[in-house]
Amino acid sequence: MLITMKADASTQATDSVINMLTGRGFEVHTIRSSGAAVIGVNGKPIPEDLPSSMQIADGVSHVDLHPSKYPLAARSSRPEGTVVRVGETTIGGLEPAIIAGPCVIETEDELISIAQGVKRHGATLLRGGAFKPRTSPYSFQGHGELGLEMLAKAREETGLPVVTEVMEPGAVEMVAHYADVLQIGSRNMMNFPLLRAVSQVDKPVLLKRGFAATIEEWLQSAEYILAGGNDRVILCERGIRSFDQATRFTLDLNAVPLLRELTHLPVVVDPSHGTGRREMVAPMSAAGMAAGAHGLIIEVHPQPDTAMCDGPQTIYVDDLAGIVSHARTISAMMSTGVPTKVPA
Ligand code: PEP
Ligand code: MN
Repeated sequence: MLITMKADASTQATDSVINMLTGRGFEVHTIRSSGAAVIGVNGKPIPEDLPSSMQIADGVSHVDLHPSKYPLAARSSRPEGTVVRVGETTIGGLEPAIIAGPCVIETEDELISIAQGVKRHGATLLRGGAFKPRTSPYSFQGHGELGLEMLAKAREETGLPVVTEVMEPGAVEMVAHYADVLQIGSRNMMNFPLLRAVSQVDKPVLLKRGFAATIEEWLQSAEYILAGGNDRVILCERGIRSFDQATRFTLDLNAVPLLRELTHLPVVVDPSHGTGRREMVAPMSAAGMAAGAHGLIIEVHPQPDTAMCDGPQTIYVDDLAGIVSHARTISAMMSTGVPTKVPA
């Protein structure tokens, strides 16, 4: 059962509904960081009288006995949309978020130089992998905590907030200590213990789509994080596996306007992993923004051909400038309803 409070319900009214429910032995999950509070009720069967008694409680807007599979992530739970604040920047607002940096952090000097370059070209956040999910156990797995220290140094030098992947529940606290945004990689989208672990920290989460996951499964993974109490979730479309091997993955841009309709969470597009090809990053960035994305995540490197990971899909640092400029223009067109209007 899901209880949505009125937008102007007082904190006391919300607390009193929660106390009433916990007093009757239910588990509750509440989201109330902005707008109307939404209370998920679980833990045991719902007695017949409960929905009607909750419906008349002070401050309650509506009670849904059979909510959707992702009630907290659903657009209806926050129709105005979620804007995730990260330091001085936002993801989900009118300005496109541009997250750029190497696939994997190699050296501190190189990372700082990339961070300065991408900042100059308009990036709003720096990305870089310290813990890398590699298909082969013999591939470079990242510098681990040392890489996180390098990221923190790059943030100190440039002021850019940093996004980096966390792969296991036991590492969440450590990664959250350094990172401004925790990335959940495609391979871990359904790692439910990891989703639960990141739901407990006070850091936004960039949730990448599993490359074989449906949109409904993806939104339910987001729901895990919201239900645990962390409502700062950003969805990232990064391509799915299709029958066609012509590109590394198939960037599913259908997902973008669909997600804008289905969920209030911000959506960013990853044209690097989505295509696997450097030459395709600029056109698919533009396409992602035209589809209604709130931003992009792009792999960049000063010498992509010698990058330690994902070189073929990595753009040169200076090529980011044109992509950002087009992203801003297209984003402005989208928000003024030209050529087509997407939901808020
Ligand atoms: C990444 O962004 O570094 C990454 C590993 O991406 P994905 O999880 O989408 O493969
Ligand atoms: Mn990569």
